[in-house]
Amino acid sequence: MSTTAIADNSVIASKEETRDTSNDIIINAENIKFCPGPCNDYSEECPPETRGNEKRYFFKPYSGGRYNQLSYPMQNGGEIFLKNVRMCSYCCKRLIEFDEEGCIEYLQNDSKNIIKKLQKMKVLA
Ligand SMILES: [Zn+2]
Repeated sequence: MSTTAIADNSVIASKEETRDTSNDIIINAENIKFCPGPCNDYSEECPPETRGNEKRYFFKPYSGGRYNQLSYPMQNGGEIFLKNVRMCSYCCKRLIEFDEEGCIEYLQNDSKNIIKKLQKMKVLA
């Protein structure tokens, strides 16, 4: 079992800085049932598995909760903020690794895929 730890309610990559926020995209992912990350999976999250008295959810956080906010830099200097989000473990892992390693270009590329996905799913116009 992969246990890459992102504490519930953690805030990833929300660095306070004086930058132009006019290109930012803020998505409230509260009602989004699919993973809004850069993966190719457009399907709804599977129902949780029950193990003993515990439910294990498919997306992260595995507790079934939501991250307050995850963000991706875009090439235009803006950022995509995914608020109240659940995301698949693959996308979470990518985000953490790229963020830790400072792979901005990869994150910018992921942000393009996120926008494409959200447009296709009619979350974004
Ligand atoms: Zn994903």
